[in-house]
Amino acid sequence: MRIAVLKELAPGETRVAATPETVKKFIGLGAELAVETGAGEAASIADADYAAAGASVGSRADVLKGANIILGIQGPDPKDLKGFAEGAWLAAGLNPFGERARIDDYAKLGIEALAMEFMPRITRAQSMDILSSQANLAGYKAVLMAANAYGRAFPMMMTAAGTVSAAKAFVMGVGVAGLQAIATARRLGAQVSATDVRSATKEQILSLGAKPIFVESVAGIEGEGAGGYATEMSDEYKAAQAELVSSHIAKQDIVITTALIPGRPAPRLISDAQLATMRSGSVIVDMAAESGGNVEGSAPGETKKIHGVTVIGAKNIAALMPADTSALFSRNLFNFLSAFWDKEAGKPVLDEEIGNAVRLTQGGKVVNERLLG
Ligand code: NAD
Repeated sequence: MRIAVLKELAPGETRVAATPETVKKFIGLGAELAVETGAGEAASIADADYAAAGASVGSRADVLKGANIILGIQGPDPKDLKGFAEGAWLAAGLNPFGERARIDDYAKLGIEALAMEFMPRITRAQSMDILSSQANLAGYKAVLMAANAYGRAFPMMMTAAGTVSAAKAFVMGVGVAGLQAIATARRLGAQVSATDVRSATKEQILSLGAKPIFVESVAGIEGEGAGGYATEMSDEYKAAQAELVSSHIAKQDIVITTALIPGRPAPRLISDAQLATMRSGSVIVDMAAESGGNVEGSAPGETKKIHGVTVIGAKNIAALMPADTSALFSRNLFNFLSAFWDKEAGKPVLDEEIGNAVRLTQGGKVVNERLLG
């Protein structure tokens, strides 16, 4: 079983899908590892470190030759696909909803594409979940980005020259990234409040010492859908939420938005009119900018001043901490493949529950229910 690790070519991508630690572990299972020259450079991993762990290091073409499994952070460059052996597995973050045409290409070429972001949210798959591992660190970094762009301090400070008041931070969307954003803003000394459509998050917000801000006026609402993800809310709920946000947001200095709905554009949580009510100098980090944005006017990879508010449209925040995010992503991939490693066959054999969830293409066809449905 030959496993290939390619250098990521997407602009701004600094992560790598295997580390010397996971290379060693794969070799321990009996696999042969081939890593592209320079694959780990941006994540501070030298070719010599991969070689010392037992991998062969070579050109892209050499690494792909005869590979049974190709590991990636994002999908490979379309030019690479000709180099894939028929039936090869491609395990990476494949952005199945955003890059549907590429999925059809994988099917046509007989590649078995496994989308790591489709990992089911079940207990035994927690250690394989790239969305959680990357969102956790991204939630932390988003708060640091906000703190950097903010012209004031986060904690209350009593100095000989007078008192500096604590920043008020509001986190919208309390999933993995939001929880870490709350914890980080609290650690920096901000007064933190947070909101979500899933009622279960209220207790989590309180447990982190922040204040929950929830729509209570619309009866019988529960925003939690399949797999612990949020569902699209009713118009009545959206109106009540907008009113609640309007009254709260005008008093906030920092807002971190993280709200996502799988397979749909991110919900719009802050309108231009609401932005206009915020204090000049406030900072918003829109972590959903790449999925359409929670904030009107935000754009991925851009920082804009809108009505005196700095609006940072996040783009691949995980790539700003490539050493840590690569280590976690690589372990997710190893945990996934090793959990299904069949010693006799010398390769992974996926079970139905996880296999059907992550497998996008097989036998020349797109087979994933979420793409077909
Ligand atoms: P996500 O990235 O899909 O969304 C981020 C947050 O935005 C979610 O909390 C969501 O409820 C919220 N949101 C969506 N629409 C909103 C709106 N209109 N207004 C306000 N908030 C809105 O979520 P996530 O980080 O993937 O986490 C979702 C849940 O799944 C969490 O409870 C998490 O702990 C759980 N989870 C479980 C596993 C597992 O068991 N293996 C793995 C990962 C996450």
